[in-house]
Amino acid sequence: MSNHDAQLNQEATEPKPIGYRQLVRAFRELPIPPGRPVLVHSSLSAFGEVLGGAETVAGALAEVFNSIVVPTFTYKTLVIPESGPPDNAITYGSQADMNKMAEFFYPDMPADKLMGVVAETVRRHPEAHRSGHPVMSFAGLNARQYLEKQLLTEPLAPIAAMYDRGGWVLLLGVDHTANTSIHLGERLAGRKMYTRWALMSDLIVTCTNTPYCSDGFNAIAPLIDPFVDKARIGKAEVQAMPLHELIETTRQLIQADQTALLCSRTDCPSCNTVRRLVIRLKNGIVPPTVNSHG
Ligand SMILES: [Zn+2]
Repeated sequence: MSNHDAQLNQEATEPKPIGYRQLVRAFRELPIPPGRPVLVHSSLSAFGEVLGGAETVAGALAEVFNSIVVPTFTYKTLVIPESGPPDNAITYGSQADMNKMAEFFYPDMPADKLMGVVAETVRRHPEAHRSGHPVMSFAGLNARQYLEKQLLTEPLAPIAAMYDRGGWVLLLGVDHTANTSIHLGERLAGRKMYTRWALMSDLIVTCTNTPYCSDGFNAIAPLIDPFVDKARIGKAEVQAMPLHELIETTRQLIQADQTALLCSRTDCPSCNTVRRLVIRLKNGIVPPTVNSHG
């Protein structure tokens, strides 16, 4: 093959950059009923080249969906105290130095990079609102009714409110390990949630019912697949699914097998804690109370 042929061949196979109209068309083709709130998890780079970048994706989402919500989590606010409740998947007193690096949450604190640049772009939209949880805030457009449900004791309440209104989840180039709503299914199934501490308003605030590991969440795929609508936009695989089916599938799965959706990392503090508690429960051992140690 000559250099010229190679170049032509590359031009034929190389996907064209994605534009606003293509995104709008693709989002409209998803079976999400009009008016339903949509929780979006995204990776911009998964699309390949997008003309206008994250602004284009966020603009197309806002154009097509009545209300959109994105995770704008901020883990840099977390501190680890010297002591606390048992079975909390944390090594107390282990991060005295790291605690000094922690930052106080403020309403305009940028979302962690892990949330993706599209989520951060939605957060910065002039009409966006953001909830006030120092670790697990959500931002959204026309989504105040969901965001305002969040409490320090119920970080997943915005997802529960979207579930009540027939909400959907949209995964743009990310898999179920980014699918935060599965944590709500865990919570409803009675899975162990954790207590965390974060810096906010000159205080250390206690955040209860905090979910933890999602590394094992792709095991939900074969069960949820019948309810998932899949599409391809550019290089990205797009998955849309109703919150109701996602959360009920998760809840039933964990109620049938309390170790379902745990990850296989041998050093995972959270999944190992759940396994330990399940064994303890099977052996009829009463878990220690909050005040006892050891
Ligand atoms: Zn894990």
